[in-house]
Amino acid sequence: MNSCLIRGGMLIDGTGAAGYRADIRVEGGVITDIAANIEARDEEQIQDATGCIVAPGFIECHTHFDGTMWWEPELKPLAGFGATTVIMGNCGFSIAPLPESPEVRDELIKIFSFFEDIPEAPFKTCLLYTSDAADE
Ligand SMILES: [Zn+2]
Repeated sequence: MNSCLIRGGMLIDGTGAAGYRADIRVEGGVITDIAANIEARDEEQIQDATGCIVAPGFIECHTHFDGTMWWEPELKPLAGFGATTVIMGNCGFSIAPLPESPEVRDELIKIFSFFEDIPEAPFKTCLLYTSDAADE
């Protein structure tokens, strides 16, 4: 059976708990061990994840939560379904980076409000209107 040991990453386990440093063993595509320091087996593939986030779980590859995440930071119900990673904006429809121009921002909010059937008010009160927001 193929065995892989992912070492030294910051584990985000999808439970909502804070990330923590852990090693993870994967055998046959299944996580079989999570611990602070797992000893490598002979001929086991080892991946050094030092400085990386390790988020085993489903990858939600198409959401429009880039507005919703500002007033629902837990992105419910995705985590409950096992999603640990979200990719936003891959259909060309995204809030980030939020435009500097108030007129363009308002137009973008109107578009999101229409397509997502969300009132404009949460967008106007919850979104960060700084260029730093694109980094978050
Ligand atoms: Zn889309």
